Amino acid sequence: MVECPKCGIEVVNPVKTWAMVGRPSKTGERFKLTIGLYECPRCERRFRVVLGKERITIKGAIEEIKGIERGFMQTLRSLREKIEKLESEKSDLLAEIEKLRKAGEERASVLEEDIATLRKEVESMKKLLGDLEEQ
Ligand SMILES: [Zn+2]
Repeated sequence: MVECPKCGIEVVNPVKTWAMVGRPSKTGERFKLTIGLYECPRCERRFRVVLGKERITIKGAIEEIKGIERGFMQTLRSLREKIEKLESEKSDLLAEIEKLRKAGEERASVLEEDIATLRKEVESMKKLLGDLEEQ
């Protein structure tokens, strides 16, 4: 039970909690402390309470490092999967762009041919009109 140091009423839930490593004791032991920050609902006084004290052992430290390593490997794995997915998406998009580029080039060459044909028609019509005027 946590009590407000000023007015003594019980405060139920901490505003936040965090862990920190305390200074080594005279015997060289280190402790991991869990600290809670509380705010009294009556007087609004904020105060900290040590909620847990855990001796740091080599075994515990190794376990913690292993845990971090596991998390790291998992992150790495999911990043690799994400990159693979993005790369396959990229190659799909590049293939699509290439297809569109080819279609565009084909369309352009068809249009060029159409224009060349139309130019010839215009030339022959001009010639025809010129011939008519000369008569
Ligand atoms: Zn209080």
